Amino acid sequence: MNEVILAKLGEVVLKGLNRKNFEDTLIKTLRRRLHRIGSFQVRSAQSTITVTPLSPQEDMDAAEACVAHVFGIASYCRACAVEKDLEIIKQSAGDYVEELFCTIGSFKVESKRSDKKFPYTSPEISREVGSYLADRFPQVAVNVHSPDTVVTIEVRDEAAFIHADARRGAGGIPIGTGGKALTLISGGIDSPVASFMIAKRGIELTAVHFASPPYTSQRAEEKVEELLHRVAAYSGRIKLFVVPFTRLQEAIRDECREEYSTIVMRRFMMMIAVRLAEMEGCQALITGESLGQVASQTLGAVSCTDEVSPLPVFRPLIGMDKEEIIEIARRIDTFEVSIQPYEDCCTVFTPRHPRTRPVLSDVLAQQNKIEYQPMIEEAIAQVQVRMIY
Ligand code: ATP
Ligand code: MG
Repeated sequence: MNEVILAKLGEVVLKGLNRKNFEDTLIKTLRRRLHRIGSFQVRSAQSTITVTPLSPQEDMDAAEACVAHVFGIASYCRACAVEKDLEIIKQSAGDYVEELFCTIGSFKVESKRSDKKFPYTSPEISREVGSYLADRFPQVAVNVHSPDTVVTIEVRDEAAFIHADARRGAGGIPIGTGGKALTLISGGIDSPVASFMIAKRGIELTAVHFASPPYTSQRAEEKVEELLHRVAAYSGRIKLFVVPFTRLQEAIRDECREEYSTIVMRRFMMMIAVRLAEMEGCQALITGESLGQVASQTLGAVSCTDEVSPLPVFRPLIGMDKEEIIEIARRIDTFEVSIQPYEDCCTVFTPRHPRTRPVLSDVLAQQNKIEYQPMIEEAIAQVQVRMIY
């Protein structure tokens, strides 16, 4: 049996004149990623991408997982490709669904005929294949209103395809069609989800992590790398900057009033992030903040932080509840890593009573107690760069 993967384009198809560019970018990404797994042909026609293994040894499960992680794909499924002959289609459909039909109670058949030269109409194909399957599997009922499974027959130019229900793809728009942004990544639950959400809109990611050794450990950095590795399964490779942040943290602890320390720290993070973003050609910053979640994420704190950034700061989680964020973290497979208990520089230096309604002039007064500019230069000079795949 000749098995392939069919992937349907999502929003890409709506993009008018840009469509070709979007589709080409998506296919390039898919080819590059599949190439790491084995030899596959990737073709696109009529809003459907067909992934065909070039030998029977190719790992179709790995290829399917790869397709599931590509932005721009709305849905995908494994399918059986056969000759465009009604008898062959019926027989093959029976063979292809045999195992699945042991596990379900009802089905219906739907057909799409994009090759108009095929001598049967879509309703005729559905009827023929449906009654063949009903005869061959009498224990499975036909149910046209709410079947357990829809068996689909697609008669396309190149072949006829038989498949069962499609799965939801990664959605969004292809990476590389929307420019680049710098994501501030901690080891928590939120920032990997925020990074994923912006990447999903076609944005290429660069990342920055602030480390404060010896208060924070090597393991905490490895955790960040593992999180980015999981985001990179969707976004493609990510350049990570690890910034040594200890001196600035200690200066804040020693010089500033404790209740302002978080907000001053966040301003320094932003200042450094803006510099790195400019060096890398990133047009925005990304953070995982959600309004009201902690004291540094109040409206007042957010605006005191943003005041240092000439770049837009994207906070895709701003209106989300923790439960909603966790749901996405589980789906993209970052949750289990995020909850591993390694310290972050924020948690090490957390004040007992942070200001929830900071006034900018007070924040500036605290911040300016520190001669921070040379320390920022020093931190940037000592930045470490890693490529995460
Ligand atoms: P997260 O779950 O992403 O850690 P959080 O709810 O713990 O978020 P904070 O610790 O206040 O919230 O951090 C808010 C945001 O600031 C994070 O989502 C992240 O974007 C950024 N951030 C925090 N700590 C760091 C760090 N050490 N390095 C880089 N960015 C950081
Ligand atoms: Mg955190």
